[in-house]
Amino acid sequence: MVNNTQKQTKYIFVTGGVASSLGKGIIAASLAKLLQSRGYSVTIQKLDPYLNIDPGTLNPYEHGECYVTEDGAETDLDLGHYERFLNTPTTQGNNVTTGRIYQSVINRERKGEFLGKTVQVIPHITDEIKRRVKLLSTKNKFDVVITEIGGTVGDIESLPYIEAVRQLRYDLGSHNTLVIHLTLIPYMSASGELKTKPTQHSVKALLESGVQPDILVLRTEKELGEEIKKKVALFCNVDSDAVIESIDVPTIYEVPLRMLSQKLDIVALRKLGLKVEDAKLDKWEAFVDRVKNPSCEVKIALIGKYTELPDAYKSIVESFIHAGAENNVKVRLQYVNSEEVTEDTVSDMLSDMGGILVAPGFGGRGIEGKIVATKFARESNIPFLGICLGMQCAVIEFARNVIGLKNANSTEVDERTPYPVIDIMEEQKNITEKGGTMRLGAYPCKLTVGSKAFEAYGTELISERHRHRYEFNNKYINDYIKAGMNPVGINPDTELVEVVEIPSHRWFVGVQYHPEYKSTVVNPQPLFVSFVKSVMDYKL
Ligand code: GLN
Repeated sequence: MVNNTQKQTKYIFVTGGVASSLGKGIIAASLAKLLQSRGYSVTIQKLDPYLNIDPGTLNPYEHGECYVTEDGAETDLDLGHYERFLNTPTTQGNNVTTGRIYQSVINRERKGEFLGKTVQVIPHITDEIKRRVKLLSTKNKFDVVITEIGGTVGDIESLPYIEAVRQLRYDLGSHNTLVIHLTLIPYMSASGELKTKPTQHSVKALLESGVQPDILVLRTEKELGEEIKKKVALFCNVDSDAVIESIDVPTIYEVPLRMLSQKLDIVALRKLGLKVEDAKLDKWEAFVDRVKNPSCEVKIALIGKYTELPDAYKSIVESFIHAGAENNVKVRLQYVNSEEVTEDTVSDMLSDMGGILVAPGFGGRGIEGKIVATKFARESNIPFLGICLGMQCAVIEFARNVIGLKNANSTEVDERTPYPVIDIMEEQKNITEKGGTMRLGAYPCKLTVGSKAFEAYGTELISERHRHRYEFNNKYINDYIKAGMNPVGINPDTELVEVVEIPSHRWFVGVQYHPEYKSTVVNPQPLFVSFVKSVMDYKL
């Protein structure tokens, strides 16, 4: 940590304008990475302006992947980027939604804590937003808290957040706060021009709410040139070195380097009155170099039901980038819709794959295709990784086709199956509420020495994150061992089976937990690294 005589935490807010999905999360994470590389302790928070308490109940079509933290919070997928970039864990406090804000204000109102006053958006909701922003740094003192505000400036639902930013700037002083506004500079191919007007309007919308941005990051397909940057600076009241271009790049991991070359971090530190120490980014640069220049390529099928929406599997996709870089290989993911996989199509669809991953999921739709794909991987000796529902498919498939338990299933799919080899966890049986009630977050797991998982992790005791209600049914454990599928990872406290393997297979591992949530640039997840290695040994 930088020896910073001022102990005051500095707050950086990242807002977005003109369009959604411009990559605020990546810009926030990139800036955080740069500040971290200069010795500052940084955390990133996402404020989401929707009414759900958390994204746990949202369909992946609505919101992409639900990312799970160590402490078991179901959060926005941007938190995954924060962890992958910074290599530090996030917590429930790093993702707050409007639903959560209102819920706590309303709970306090019911307790009579407002002493007969009228409870209003301003000041009560904005106070709660401000409290949540500041709370992050009260437990663990951070030098800098970066708060990303979801949505787009001008949205009705974003207004209380922008108002809270205005108030916080007033409360804390402009030298302790910074606003970075990310907008889009569209390119009109008909006239061959880059257009700054939407950015001007979006800054105007922020100004109407009393917030003057300090730094503008302009997302663009084409290089902007000095003229455009100067024009934007002039119209939007920002210094010309505080207009930063964010051009499309082949990998998100290059964004911090692009921001570094334009001194985004230096401009931010200067404005916050913080010292500029040397940036140590050698490891990051080496990683980006490996991502961009792999020595060869392998193909892995990702069998899931949200295949037209890769964001649903964001952490898995990123884990393969980390594991690929570690192995100096590019992993080409082939998204395969499990509903299209049948005994008739499977060979055509999967025989030229170097590896097969069966993805997590909920409910019965597409599960039979996942089971067929698992069978194909097992019988063809193709490296296989099953995650959560993917592991459960491996267990079901093995029961049906090797042990001979006809119609074995998970009770999630078929409550009346004669062989419930996957069954609801005891503590889940009486739960009726859907939100935040699964088995969530980090739990320990003890691995069998000599197993593939043990080889991958290089240690017996591991901890991984979970998100499920169903589990391996221990009643059948001996049938599995006898037939050649071993439980090689067990929760030492509850005896839950967390990892299964087929030792006679080249590389066949199913995990009840989600290894993908813990993969970072600095620490690629060991199972993914080992899986990719086995794919290379098989195919190259
Ligand atoms: N639906 C399964 C369960 O709840 C698997 C969950 C998952 O894949 N995350 O146990």
